[in-house]
Amino acid sequence: MENKNFRFETEAIHSGYLSDEHQGSLVPPLYQTSTFTFASAEQGERRFAGQEEGYIYSRLGNPTVKILEDRMAKLEQGEAGLAFSSGMAAVSAVLTALTKTGDRILCSQGVYGCTYGLLQLLKDKYDIAHDFSLMSSKEILEEEIRPNTACIYIETPINPTMKLVDLELVASIANQRGIPVVVDNTFCSPYLQTPISLGCDVVIHSATKYICGHGDVIAGIVVGKSDFIQQVSRTTQKDIGGTVSPFDAWLLLRGIKTLPVRMDRHCENASKLVEFLRNHPKVEKLYFPGNSDYVDDNRIMQKQMKKPGGLISFSIKGSKQTAQLFMNQLKLIKIAVSLGDAETLIQHPATMTHAVVPVEERRKMGIEDTLLRLSVGLEAWEDIQEDLDQALEKI
Ligand SMILES: *Cc1c(COP(=O)(O)O)cnc(C)c1O
Repeated sequence: MENKNFRFETEAIHSGYLSDEHQGSLVPPLYQTSTFTFASAEQGERRFAGQEEGYIYSRLGNPTVKILEDRMAKLEQGEAGLAFSSGMAAVSAVLTALTKTGDRILCSQGVYGCTYGLLQLLKDKYDIAHDFSLMSSKEILEEEIRPNTACIYIETPINPTMKLVDLELVASIANQRGIPVVVDNTFCSPYLQTPISLGCDVVIHSATKYICGHGDVIAGIVVGKSDFIQQVSRTTQKDIGGTVSPFDAWLLLRGIKTLPVRMDRHCENASKLVEFLRNHPKVEKLYFPGNSDYVDDNRIMQKQMKKPGGLISFSIKGSKQTAQLFMNQLKLIKIAVSLGDAETLIQHPATMTHAVVPVEERRKMGIEDTLLRLSVGLEAWEDIQEDLDQALEKI
């Protein structure tokens, strides 16, 4: 196959891999090795000096991992990719690469709980501050970008309230000022949203979620411009060392093949369940991308997302205890953090993923004690709905 661009579904299966280069093996081989032998001392010298292409040691690069990185770069419409041992290894590598003492990071109104923890650590130990912003208009952004804002960090949909950020708007303002825009695209996967095509600079994934899709890997991916990826690869990845294992990269390559098929089913199931929950008398509030409660979000969704996704948050009437009682009544749906798996999962953000966020901050992010987040799986939607229904009956 030459450099022809295929459609997303095709690239998800073929991109980054040529079987001719691997004895005709249909599936990418697993190079489960820590190191690579040199034919001579001089060859080793040339590889270390960067004068000759080739592998050295798996923390610095591995052929199976490279296929994954190239495939993800293609799907995210970026120039290059870099794989990590976890989503947080990817987030920390990017944020430490883009900032130095005295800088600020401008963040969307909500971020993943451990990203919040990392921002605190950067502030306390390295004097790298952060601000949270609604990013809802040009005026707001222009006011909140300060002279020492070193990067903009966005989650959209925002976890767990599903509020959207207009990526094109933020990118247009940031680009003029030369400030890189980083997007955690975990909730969408490149099948639903490609931030780089909207002018953003760097995309991060917790590949643990939809990219893997089967709940058996912890990994992260970064996609961006080649020189930025090379810089991260040679500094924060090489020397801090959150490298993915070749076996996990191999499992991710297997998962990605079915990403479009899985995402379609996640989205279809979620839209059925949204209809059920929206009309349920025990449900207080429903949070779903494009939800009409958020003015503008429908417009943003149409503009930047292919479909609203497979995650639904909702609050139920009552207290924290009511929410916990409801969870304990579920039979098919599993109580677990993480998302994007074949199994439907439910979690309680206030005591689980966002427990590290102080309560006042949590309220500002819209995370009440009765809020639940459902990661809709691939089961028959009728069975998921029946389970929700019987548990709601019992509270
Ligand atoms: C899970 C998650 C992360 C962290 O990824 P790990 O693979 O668990 O390290 C970061 N961002 C979002 C939005 C996530 O859901």
